Amino acid sequence: MQEYYIKNLLRIKDEHLKVRKIETLDNVMEVHIDFTQGYHTCPKCAFKTCRVHDYRIKRIKHGVINGYKVYLNYKRRRYVCKRCGTRFPEPNGFVTRFSKISNVTKHHILKEAQSVQPFKNIAERLNISLSTAIRHIDRHVSPSRLELSETIAIDEFKKTNLGYGKYAFIICDPIEKKVIDVMKNRRTDWLVNYFGQIPLEERKRVKNVIMDLWAPYRSIVKNHFPNARIIADVFHFSRYIYWAFNDVRIRVMNTFKRDSVPYHMLKKHWKVFLKSPDQLKDDYRYIRALNENVNDFMIHDYAANLHPDLEEAFRLKDFFQVGIKETSFEEAETFIHEFIAMLRGAHTKEFKEIKKTFINWKHEIINSFDLHPKTQKKMTNGTIEGINNYIKVIKRISYGFRNFSRFRSRILFLYNKSYSMLG
Ligand SMILES: [Zn+2]
Repeated sequence: MQEYYIKNLLRIKDEHLKVRKIETLDNVMEVHIDFTQGYHTCPKCAFKTCRVHDYRIKRIKHGVINGYKVYLNYKRRRYVCKRCGTRFPEPNGFVTRFSKISNVTKHHILKEAQSVQPFKNIAERLNISLSTAIRHIDRHVSPSRLELSETIAIDEFKKTNLGYGKYAFIICDPIEKKVIDVMKNRRTDWLVNYFGQIPLEERKRVKNVIMDLWAPYRSIVKNHFPNARIIADVFHFSRYIYWAFNDVRIRVMNTFKRDSVPYHMLKKHWKVFLKSPDQLKDDYRYIRALNENVNDFMIHDYAANLHPDLEEAFRLKDFFQVGIKETSFEEAETFIHEFIAMLRGAHTKEFKEIKKTFINWKHEIINSFDLHPKTQKKMTNGTIEGINNYIKVIKRISYGFRNFSRFRSRILFLYNKSYSMLG
């Protein structure tokens, strides 16, 4: 009865397996096991035999149980066939032929590999060497890319120490929130080669590609995805407006003395200035520099009245922010044309400078107003932002990766947990 519980605890449940002895010393547990003798089939001629050839002790690492590093000392029996003389080891279910760690331990390695933690921790927890842990994970966790979905998002992220340039390239499915693939480079020749290897039929199914305003991506997408339209990421192109606005604010601010009220107001309340008109709050608060109680509207008015360039910057930014929120896809073309016309008429050089970008990316920006039929939301690279943050955590916890394919495997495996990649 006791043996039953021990075998259960050790997860070696073969009924013919006998636990002969258990020794413990400090935090090491030596478990001595062997099989009862029986008839086995010769692998060469299929004759049944029970003649023993010899025994060998095999010492197998079996993980850690209750703080004990467990070793199985398996007295392995070899049989010899009475008919053809072939020698063969008895079959067993807990360790493969040349392995020094048990199958249960291997199973635990893959289980541990599903959470974000350094390989070193996995090795320590299971009483195996770091190289064994990494080798096993490399061999069994090598996910292939996912199939391209109807809507994909592409972007890059900084990878620093892994060679082949500073940036890695990522493709994801923003609707199902999956990483489709990660590659070590975003260079045009790499991407052309990569997409060129994906069957045309699969590429034809892609209808929407979301990306930032980067010309090389646009030509690659146009050449490789015949049925896709390009959607400019809203956060990405909106930034141009905020940058222009801030540049005007700082330029005007620097025309005032550092100890003046306008300088102080323009420096301190930049966050309020960036709020869109519908976000402005009308509750009053005391502002020491003005020595009065004011609300968001009054802070906006104060700044807009300091300089005509700031007034223009507010007008353009407010028009854009309201338009982004309230314009339907059907009205988007009119809205963007109107905005471009306003940029054409702008006097401030900061807004004149972004005019080109909006003209150049007009179609892609207009596409960003369309809603995805399933989510009824605009299609953005927001998911990729989230994935990039997740990648940062993986990178930090893993103390950096030297090997890109291992890094890629970790990202795909950990982020797309629900999809099976084992084997
Ligand atoms: Zn035989």
